[in-house]
Amino acid sequence: MNVSVDANQCQGHGLCQMTSPQVFALRDEDGHAYVLPEGQEPNHLGEARAGADSCPERAISVE
Ligand code: SF4
Repeated sequence: MNVSVDANQCQGHGLCQMTSPQVFALRDEDGHAYVLPEGQEPNHLGEARAGADSCPERAISVE
């Protein structure tokens, strides 16, 4: 499983982090999202997909 955030598309709305805090966090510097190490674990697939669905910029991919 690979979860990624496209830094060029992310606008820092934070919806992914609010939806799935087990998978996504926001950087202090610019408020943009990144994937936590544990967010790549297969047991978080559902949360990763929910976070991706919550993103209005479609910046998250889950493969
Ligand atoms: S919801 Fe999308 S645009 Fe907002 S912080 Fe998360 S990845 Fe970025």
